[in-house]
Order: sequence, then C-alpha cells, then structure tokens
Amino acid sequence: MKLMKFSLLKITGLCAFFFYCISLQSQDLYITGGHYFDTESGEMIANEGIIIKSGKIVGVNSNQGITRGFERIRLKDDQYILPGIFDVHAHYRVTFDGIRKDEVEVNPIIFLANGVTSTFPNGEIEPEKMMATRKAINSGEKIGARIHNSGPYFGTAFPGWNPETTAEEINKRVDKWAELGVAGFKAKGINPTQLEALIKRAHKHGLTVTGHLGSGYKTTVNPKMAIEMGIDRIEHFIGGEALPDSQSAYATLQNLDPMSPLLDKQIDRFINYNVYFDATLTAYGYYGHREELYDYWHNERKYLTTYAEELTQNTRQKLDMFQKIFDVKKITVKRYYDKGGKITLGTDHPSVGEFLAGFSSHREMEALSSIGIPNAAVIRIATINGANALRLGNKFGSITTGKLADLFVVEGNPLDDITNTRNIFRVVKGGEVYDPVKLLKSVEGKMGPKNKADWK
Ligand SMILES: [Zn+2]
Repeated sequence: MKLMKFSLLKITGLCAFFFYCISLQSQDLYITGGHYFDTESGEMIANEGIIIKSGKIVGVNSNQGITRGFERIRLKDDQYILPGIFDVHAHYRVTFDGIRKDEVEVNPIIFLANGVTSTFPNGEIEPEKMMATRKAINSGEKIGARIHNSGPYFGTAFPGWNPETTAEEINKRVDKWAELGVAGFKAKGINPTQLEALIKRAHKHGLTVTGHLGSGYKTTVNPKMAIEMGIDRIEHFIGGEALPDSQSAYATLQNLDPMSPLLDKQIDRFINYNVYFDATLTAYGYYGHREELYDYWHNERKYLTTYAEELTQNTRQKLDMFQKIFDVKKITVKRYYDKGGKITLGTDHPSVGEFLAGFSSHREMEALSSIGIPNAAVIRIATINGANALRLGNKFGSITTGKLADLFVVEGNPLDDITNTRNIFRVVKGGEVYDPVKLLKSVEGKMGPKNKADWK
C-alpha cells in the first residue's frame, strides 16, 4: 500500500496538486454554518463557528481567537456535525480461508471513513500488531481510526490460553499490557478466580474491564457475579437471575422471557454499580434471518480482494437460534434503556467479508432507534457513552471546548432519521480533515488474501 507510506504532512502539503490526496488539510480549522450536535441538550444547534487549533476544539459557537491561516470550512444548512463515533466492540479481526487475523491495512481506513474516529478492539488475537498499528496511526505514518488497545483476550478466546492460568499470572500479564499502554481489558472464556484478579489489577492501573461472560454454568461467570466483583462493562447480555447457571448462556438466551421481573433486579444492579452495558444489538442478527436492518446502502464487498470475494460468497450461516436471541434482545435492551441503564455502541463484527465492521456502527444505530430509543440518545450512546465507559470522556465524545477535534459532518438531520449518519460529507480526526470518498477509494480491492498462499 504505497500511498499509505507517505507521511500525512507530505500528503497534505501536496494536497492541491495530488489527485489521490486523502487528508484535505492539517491546518487549524474554522468550521461555520450547518448545525452541530449538543451532547448535553441532545439538540442540533445552528453553528456559528467551531474553532480547532492543533487538533483540539478551542471554541464552540465562537469566532474568538481566529487568526490568519485558519482553514475555513463553510457548511450548508442541511449539514450536521456529530462527535466521532466510539465503537467499543470494534473487531479488526477477519476470517478468510479459515484463518483469523487482525486486519490493519484496510479496516482502520474503513472505520474512519464511516465517522468512527475511536475504536476499542474488544479482544485482540494479535495484540503486538494492534499496538504497532496504534503507534503508526498516532504518529501519522498510517491513516485510520484511533485504536484504544485492549491487548490480548483474557480467557479461552485467546489462542493458546491456559485454562489453569493463576491469579499471579493474570497480574503479571495485566502489568505488562498496562505498561505497553492498553486502554482497558476484555475477558472472554474466563473463570471467576481469573476474572476477580483481572478486575483488581486493572483497576490498580486505572483501567477498565469488560467481559463476554456466561450464565455461571460450570466455570463461567454470570454478569451478576462479575458486577459484584467490580467489573466496569458487560458485553452482549445482561445476565443475572433470569439466566440460570444450570445450563450454558446460549441454551437459555433464545428462550429468555424478556418481560421477566428477574431482569429488573439485574438492570438495577447495573445502575447501582454504575456498569455500562455494551448492547451489541445487531451482532446476533448478522447470524439471523437478516430480513431487516441488514441492507447494503454501500457495496461493502468491493474492499475485498478478488480472491477474498470468491471465498466469502454466502459464508455466514443463518441460524434460527441467533434470530431468536436477536428478537429477545430488542425487548431487553429497550427495557434496560427505559429503566435508566447506560448503554454503549459496540458492533462486534468479526467479518468473514460480507459485511465490514466500519459500516456496522450505522446499522447498530438504526437498530437502537428502531426499538424506540430516541435518536438523540442513540447519538449519545454512539459517542459520549463509549468515551465515558473507557474513562476517556474528558478527551473524546462530544463537541466541547478542550476536547480533541474528532467529529464528522453528515447531510440531513440524524435526529429526524438516524440513517442520515450514513451520508458522510467529511470526517475530522484530531483536526485532520478527510474526504470519506477518497479514503474508501484508496482501499478498494485490498482486504484479504490475494491468492491461496497469501494469508498466513
Ligand atoms: Zn466480540
């Protein structure tokens, strides 16, 4: 990928003459016109001027401090500025030819082009590679969404994990990855002793823990137990007394009574312990009947290599069980929201090629809106909640003076129709302005193996 090897500065310097210019400018910015999403009120406010200096927002609805040399972006009335999306269950993982990999050439750009400026890869299988990618992106060597690393999965989801791993070994591993700069940890396939050690040690480093947990059956941990241990976030299902430990979670989830009063108890527990629920609503539906919410508004498959595209014709099985879980989840997530529980946006989409994770956050927003969550709340879920859940809310998640300039501009008001978040005009990350059309063009035909020998 030659283009990506140009430093961002080189690219931006040549911008006016360079056909393939990706970042339009890196200067200080003054964005006027259109409207911006005010996270506090949940309203769209007429934009009198957003001032961005050295990658940070230094003024909102202001023209104070504008000096010569600021790049001016004038928006039209029907253009809306949203904070960048924070996908807290963003997989870079893809599977082709039966081989799973964290794919970091195409995915970072696809996320960014979709207005996803921050990602928390919720469990990494190649954590060293993910860490190196974060560094390359932060230094400007590579273009892409921010990666707030999670390090290796803690539990059997990590290739080669020893189920007998002791608390002392967990501590060492946590110390190592905290030192390397991860933003939090993900547990999946972990036992109670290991999870307790992970939570305690992560908190010593000021880091959060999330988990894909179980019912409590055999050596699994029910979210109820994890919350009492002090976990910060829970993925996929809220668990609790409604999920009996006499059988595995998946055996129960599809037949769970979404109106069970036992769920109220568990929802209250989330609220009392200030735990976030990463709903990943659409994740199950990808394996379901896909009769709603899974349309293509964009040809996502054109980013695959010709060989990968051939490999992935209809590879995702349609399973009744996952459709049932999806239908039950729609009701439980709405109940959880109505009671006042905090939700984050997580796409959880380890792709086999037919849908790509970067686009999935827009499907997830549509799904959350479709169950009756107001669009302003959906936007908060997709932005500030994710930042707060990772304790990064002072830097990210809203268009506020003092925060990093991570935002995107869409055509049409998403408060009227949430699918307007898909009509992306520009993406700004740390003050760099990107044209999504050019970003996407640069990765066409590049994801996955080029031939049988090319994916090891
Ligand atoms: Zn996942």
